[in-house]
Amino acid sequence: MKLSFVDGIRREPEKGLMGSCIGCGRPTIAKCGTTNIWHWAHKANFVCDRWWENETEWHRNWKSQFPIEWQEIVHEADDGEKHIADVKTDKNWVLEFQHSFLNPEERKARNEFYKKIVWVVDGTRRQRDKIKFLKAIDEETRPHSTDPLVYKLWIHDCKLFEEWQGPNSAVFFDFGEEDTLWLLLPSSDDIWAFVAKFERKKFIEIHSGLGELGSKDFQLHIHDMIKTVSHKIAVQRVQSQQQDVLQVLRQAQANRAWQQRYGFGRSRRRF
Ligand SMILES: [Zn+2]
Repeated sequence: MKLSFVDGIRREPEKGLMGSCIGCGRPTIAKCGTTNIWHWAHKANFVCDRWWENETEWHRNWKSQFPIEWQEIVHEADDGEKHIADVKTDKNWVLEFQHSFLNPEERKARNEFYKKIVWVVDGTRRQRDKIKFLKAIDEETRPHSTDPLVYKLWIHDCKLFEEWQGPNSAVFFDFGEEDTLWLLLPSSDDIWAFVAKFERKKFIEIHSGLGELGSKDFQLHIHDMIKTVSHKIAVQRVQSQQQDVLQVLRQAQANRAWQQRYGFGRSRRRF
C-alpha cells in the first residue's frame, strides 16, 4: 500500500517508519528497497484485502493526481465487508486503477460492492494491446461519431476490449498517451467495441472538482456521450434496415445498467 497511519496521520513509506494498516489496523512497516516500489506491508505476513494488487509506478502516478485524503479509503458495506478503494472522491466516486488481469466474476463483485465505480485500466501491460488498438484506430478512416470522437472497432481488435466488455460499469483504458484515455461504451458487445476518446485532463478535473469542467458532474458527461452514440447507432440501423432485435435489446439493457449505476435521471434524460 502507498499509505499507512503513523501517529494518526496518513503517510507514505520512508525508511525506518512503522505504522498501522489503514484497512485492518495491524502494525505495518515501510518497505523501501530497490527492487519494488516503496510500499507499506503488514509486519506479520497477512492479507487484509484479497482484492489488493501489488502496485506499480502507474498506480502511484494515478493516485497522486488526487488529494491524499481521497487515496486508499476503506469502504464498508452494510454487512461489514471491507475493502480499500484506490481513490474515493468527495462525490463518492470510487476510482479503481487496474494493472493486472481481473476475472469477470471479481470485477462484477467489485462493481456490486462499490456501486459508484469507475475503472481505469493500464493498457500498456501487454505491448501488443496498445499496438493493435492504435493500428485499428489508424485504419478506421471514418469514426462512428466525431463529436464525441467514437470509433466502432471489432472487439477482437484489442484483447483488452474482449476482457473488459460485459459486466456493466465505465472502463477507461490508459494506453500511456499523454492527453487521451479511451472509454469503452455500454453499446459494446461481443462483436463490436464502441470506444470514445476522453481527455485525461478532463477526467482528472471532473473527479477533482477543478477547472471549468469540474462543476459538471461525471454522470452528465458520460450520459451525453452515450446518448449521442446510441442515437447514431439507432439512425444507422434504420438507414441500413438491418435491425437485429436481439442486439437492440442487449444494448438497451446495457445502457439501462449504466443508467442505474451512475444515477441518470430516468424521466428527464432518456437514452
Ligand atoms: Zn491490513
